Amino acid sequence: MSVRPGPAAPRGADGVASAAEHGTPRRIVIVGHGIAGLTAGDTLRAEGFDGELVVVGQEWHAPYSRPALSKAMLSDPTATGPEPEAQALAAPSDGARVLAGRSAVRLDPTARTVHLDDGTALDYDELVIASGARPRRFTDSPDELTLRTLDDARALRRRLVGRPEVTVIGGGPLGMEVASAARESGCDVTLLQRGVPMQRHVGAFLGGMCTAAARERGVRVVDATVTAVRPSPAGGLRLELSDGTVLAAGTVVTAIGDEANVEWLAGSGLLSDGRLLTDERGVVAPGIVAAGDVAWRRTGAGLRRRSLWTDAIEQARAAALALLHGPDAAPADYAPYFWTEQFGLNVRICGEVPAGVTPTVVDGDLAEPRALLQWEGPAQGGAAAAVNFRISVPRLRRLARPAAVPA
Ligand SMILES: Cc1cc2nc3c(=O)[nH]c(=O)nc-3n(C[C@H](O)[C@H](O)[C@H](O)COP(=O)(O)OP(=O)(O)OC[C@H]3O[C@@H](n4cnc5c(N)ncnc54)[C@H](O)[C@@H]3O)c2cc1C
Repeated sequence: MSVRPGPAAPRGADGVASAAEHGTPRRIVIVGHGIAGLTAGDTLRAEGFDGELVVVGQEWHAPYSRPALSKAMLSDPTATGPEPEAQALAAPSDGARVLAGRSAVRLDPTARTVHLDDGTALDYDELVIASGARPRRFTDSPDELTLRTLDDARALRRRLVGRPEVTVIGGGPLGMEVASAARESGCDVTLLQRGVPMQRHVGAFLGGMCTAAARERGVRVVDATVTAVRPSPAGGLRLELSDGTVLAAGTVVTAIGDEANVEWLAGSGLLSDGRLLTDERGVVAPGIVAAGDVAWRRTGAGLRRRSLWTDAIEQARAAALALLHGPDAAPADYAPYFWTEQFGLNVRICGEVPAGVTPTVVDGDLAEPRALLQWEGPAQGGAAAAVNFRISVPRLRRLARPAAVPA
C-alpha cells in the first residue's frame, strides 16, 4: 500500500504544521495501539482533526489494559471456569483505520513514509510514535517468563496453575504484583531484589510496608543482584548472583524494567544514542511527535522515560495538541500518579516522594492498614498516598501539591 494524500502540508513556525494551515485533508499515522497511541488518536479527533487517521499495531488483539495483566488477569489462576477476559480499552477513535498485526519496520522521515513488515509503505503527513517498550530479560528460555502482553499473562497464568516454585527477579511494582499473585496461587515464591523492594517507586516508608506485607504472606525476599541467568544442563535455570552464589530455579519471572521499541527508527536520524528524545510537548522533529514508554522526554528535571500509565496518557494528549496547534500547545504538565495492588495493599500515589522524609498520617490508621499519607516536599509540593483508602484522584493530587493546585 502506498497512498499519497496530496502535496505536503505547510509547516508552522517551529516546523510543526498547525491545523489551521491545512486546507486539504491529510493523514496522521500513529504507530502503536497501546494507551499512548489510542489517547493521541482520541485527542486529535476531540480537537477537531477530521483528516485520515491510520493506527498501526503489532498485536492482533483488540486494545487492552496492561495494568490489569498483573492484577485481575492473574487473580486465582487455579479457579475452574473460563480465564478472565482482557480488560478492553475503547476502540481507536472515530473513523480511524486500524492495521492490526502489522509492524512498522523502518521510517523514512524525508519521504514521510513508514515501511511495514508486510512490505507495504504507508505515507503520512504527520506521525505519532507510540510503539511502547518490551521487557528486559536475560535469556530466551521458555522457563524465563516476562509480562508485557496479553499472551504473556495467559502463559504465566497457565504456569501458576501447576503451583511451581517461582523465582521473581525484580522488586518493582510488576515483580511484586507477580509475586503476590503467585503466592496467592499457592506457589513457593522467592523474590530477588537489590535493596528494598518498591523503594525506588514509592519511597523507603511504603517500600518497607510492601516488603513487610510480602514477607507476612510467605514470600522469601532476598537482597541480591542477579548478574546472569543460564539454562541448566539439569533442566530449569541457573541464576548467578553478584556475590558468587548460584541458585537453581524452575520457573523464573524477570521484571527488571523495559527497553523502548525503537529498532524500527534506526537509520531515521531521529535517535540520539539509541534513544528517542522529545521536548516537553512530545515533539521529536517537524511533524513527528512521540509519547508513552517509547519516549525520553525533556523535563525541568532532565531527560525522563517513565513507563507508567498516566504518563503515557498525559504525554499523548500533549503530543497530539502539539501536532495540531504547534508552538501554541502547552507542554505536558502533571504530577506523577500511579497505583499498585499487592499483598493485600492497594496503594495509589501522587507526586514525587522526597528522599529521607517520613510521611504524616492525614487520615486512617496504618495498623489496619488503611491510611492517607502526605509527604512535605520542596517548592513543587511533595507526595500523597492512599493505602487501602478511598479517595478521588483529584483530591489525592491536591494533597500532594497543596500549594500548586487550587482546592
Ligand atoms: C503487566 C503490567 C502492569 C502494569 N501496571 C501498571 C500500573 O499498575 N500502574 C501504572 O501506572 N502503570 C502500569 N504499567 C505500565 C503501563 O501499562 C505502561 O506504561 C503503558 O501501557 C504504556 O503505554 P504505551 O502506549 O506507551 O505502550 P504499549 O502499551 O506497550 O503500546 C505500544 C504498542 O505498540 C505496538 N508496537 C511496538 N512496536 C511496534 C512497531 N514497530 N510497529 C507497530 N506497533 C508496534 C505494541 O505491540 C503495543 O501494542 C504496567 C505495565 C505492565 C506491562
